[in-house]
Amino acid sequence: MFNDTICAPASAPVNSSLAVIRISGPDSYRVASFLFTNNRKISHRYAVYGSILSDGEILDDVILVYYNGPHSFTGEDMVEIFCHGNPLVVSKIMRAFFKKGIRPAGPGEFSQRAFLNGKIDLTGAEAINSLINARSDWEIKASINQMHGSLKNEIQKLREKIVILKADIEAGIDFSDQDIEFVSYGSASEIMNEIRNSLSDISMRCSAGDKASRGLDLILAGRPNVGKSSLMNLILNEERAIVSDIPGTTRDLIRETIQISGIRINLTDTAGICQAGDDIERMGIERTRKKIEDASIVLMVLDATAGITADDKLIISSFNGKKVLFILNKIDITGIEIAEELSMKEGYSLIPVSAKNGTGFSELESAITSVISGEFVDYRNSFLADVRVLNILDLSLEQTAGIVSMFGINELPEIIAFELNELTDRLAEITGEITPDDILGSIFSRFCIGK
Ligand code: GDP
Repeated sequence: MFNDTICAPASAPVNSSLAVIRISGPDSYRVASFLFTNNRKISHRYAVYGSILSDGEILDDVILVYYNGPHSFTGEDMVEIFCHGNPLVVSKIMRAFFKKGIRPAGPGEFSQRAFLNGKIDLTGAEAINSLINARSDWEIKASINQMHGSLKNEIQKLREKIVILKADIEAGIDFSDQDIEFVSYGSASEIMNEIRNSLSDISMRCSAGDKASRGLDLILAGRPNVGKSSLMNLILNEERAIVSDIPGTTRDLIRETIQISGIRINLTDTAGICQAGDDIERMGIERTRKKIEDASIVLMVLDATAGITADDKLIISSFNGKKVLFILNKIDITGIEIAEELSMKEGYSLIPVSAKNGTGFSELESAITSVISGEFVDYRNSFLADVRVLNILDLSLEQTAGIVSMFGINELPEIIAFELNELTDRLAEITGEITPDDILGSIFSRFCIGK
């Protein structure tokens, strides 16, 4: 428990109908009672209406809720004040609290207190941050699952298994003179292999989640002037990219984040791949090639009025087995029949569209959705994990493999028990049961003020 009491706005500093101010710590109740006109009615988890009064001035009419610790988010005494959503009002109320000895909270300090008071584990704390910053339905769902313990439970199950195995091996050491075998190295090795498989499954689900949080990269590729920017605009439904008749105008990469099928998509419009003219264009083209290499899915745009040209084929040949959707644009000029003719002749499955009048857009949308859904299969049961967790999982997997081989070479039980102990401690870092202070500090500093 902390001795000091902290205060911060929990809502954004914008004019809105309501704002929320949070106060947590031992002085919450005393100071709130002092500043609140309706102080006799303040009781645990009741919303009370009244005014905040400071130096004889009414600062605002508010609703105040008091939470008696440990039954609060932070586990401490807490007060939440719902005032009118004007940043000036918020700041006046906060100043009144500061004058009474309460200090401003730093980023993530409420969550850090909740964690240190055992109200949430580290995976849960990180999930709250992800929920606040989520940019897709998937992230929202995964954050909520993780707040409810999806990753924590998996890690705890594994730790329990390892602890039991370690206890059996240690018992074998204690009773070694009596020739009692608690667990044979053969079956211990089998258990360890099961642990390794579960760990590798968790690690894969964390990597998939990491990818999904970053978003799938979709890139619009094709020769200059085929209509990439126009298509980008159609997809984004807004006029962001430059549309021009002069080839090669989109010299740089334009990137937007959208959501398709609940998944975050980073959509990039590229500089046209063509013979490079000036230096700036050459740099743009180089970046495009790199971007195509990194992309998950390529939307290759072709111009129906030109057919599939040698330049188009050159670009297509550079995709190297990537997932590609072939889009035949400008069919408002040629008519839709050309798509079938070209598909038959060239052997590509073409999606006919017109970026100009929107023909074929819903077919394009469903084709994109179906490719994304295919890519997303792995992501459905994934976890939210950052580089810290992925790193711990990598090290744990490595160590698990080492322990399996120790059983194979009949290593001393004392050494194996030591390794198993280290492994449980390492996994405990994921949930935060054993985590150095500087790491905790860096995790919570990424949170916003008031969270
Ligand atoms: P980019 O260089 O591939 O990005 O191509 P732009 O989107 O800049 O388009 C090049 C030219 O083609 C512009 O004049 C667009 O108005 C025109 N254009 C793009 N899509 C279509 C289409 O579907 N039909 C017609 N008729 N013109 C289009």
